[in-house]
Amino acid sequence: MHKKWHLEGLRLDAEDPLSAFRARFVPTDEPGLVYLDGNSLGRMPIGAQERIGGATNREWPHRLVRGWNEAWYSLPKTIGNKIGQVIGADQDSVLVCDSTSINLYKLAHAALSSRPGKIVTDDLNFPTDLYILQGLAHQFGREVVVIRSPDGIHIPPELYEKELEGAALLSTSLVEFMSGFRHDAERLTASAHRAGALALWDLSHAAGAIPLEIARWNIDLAIGCTYKYLNGGPGSPAYLYVHPQLQSELTQPIWGWFGQEKPFAFDLDYEPAKGMARFSVGTPPILSLVAIEAGVDLLLKAGIDRLWSKSVAQSEFLVRMIHETLPEFEIVSPFDSSARGSHISLSHPQAHAIVRKLIADFQVIPDFRAPNCLRIGIAPLYTSYEELVTCAESLRKILDQGNLDETGLDLDAVT
Ligand SMILES: *Cc1c(COP(=O)(O)O)cnc(C)c1O
Repeated sequence: MHKKWHLEGLRLDAEDPLSAFRARFVPTDEPGLVYLDGNSLGRMPIGAQERIGGATNREWPHRLVRGWNEAWYSLPKTIGNKIGQVIGADQDSVLVCDSTSINLYKLAHAALSSRPGKIVTDDLNFPTDLYILQGLAHQFGREVVVIRSPDGIHIPPELYEKELEGAALLSTSLVEFMSGFRHDAERLTASAHRAGALALWDLSHAAGAIPLEIARWNIDLAIGCTYKYLNGGPGSPAYLYVHPQLQSELTQPIWGWFGQEKPFAFDLDYEPAKGMARFSVGTPPILSLVAIEAGVDLLLKAGIDRLWSKSVAQSEFLVRMIHETLPEFEIVSPFDSSARGSHISLSHPQAHAIVRKLIADFQVIPDFRAPNCLRIGIAPLYTSYEELVTCAESLRKILDQGNLDETGLDLDAVT
């Protein structure tokens, strides 16, 4: 690999205003490891490790049930408000609870209960989202229209706008997981409203990666996970957003005691809480909930605009390197930075074997998405330019070595 890329990588790292944030993450015990999968599972903040230690060494063993009033009960709301700042939501419109899939079920159900009509989504949406929407369509006896991407990368907004007539709900991922394509959420939300529909956006690949202005864009409903760019840890609870004007109008389908107006009055009948609390269900998982806050604090400290500038600079640097040194790969993400999230996808017929070698022989961890997509996640809080150079250089070596036979290569349970 040409030395010029290393030199440029080192120079850009030296000029990086966010470089100090890397030290706020627990170093892995493999010094050479290059981690480019923060879009799947973010790294562990040191603050999260400390906070989990506080919960397991002090709060649970010694404070016991008193911990609920001292530290735990309000966490879904306080951490929700911090995530709200990351996504540009108003105060008290975000709650941390349940998983992304379950929150999608709850909010899409709430939307469908409030108006007649079909569901409109697209074929780049994340499969769990499609399944949940299909299940709801089945339950409600509604139609799901799945818009097809013309190129597997983009979905032109006009394709949505043609389908919105007679819709109850537009729902998809604001940044699509495979290509990284970013929808114009403000425009499509306004189009949904003109058709009388609500818009529900999945922010899993967007929050903590790109600037979001959920309140200003007048978004009705949103959900997202906390373990990708928010660095909340494996299986950490998800969040949901409901526009302030809809909070008392919509009701969700799972009537649990935490969504009751007075959970500790132990009434025999359900009365939905006023405001966001009605979108919760039951007792929050405190040990994983406490792990979320430190990562969100780091994002707020770094500032989403600075993170986004670095993400654009890094992805453009990576794309230049790929064009010049890895012509065998096809870039299957939008070229225009303003039309994508914070990962770059490459396709290659032997992508699976290549990813296996990258991980086993070069300690570079991207991820693989069947059938032939290699995703390189850029998490500007901790990704360095030099790591991107190492990734490109390792890919070059793997291609030069050849011998990329994929026969007998099984898929891991998690890829
Ligand atoms: C990661 C991701 C999910 C994950 O859903 P879980 O319920 O946490 O398993 C859902 N949707 C999108 C768009 C995602 O990127």
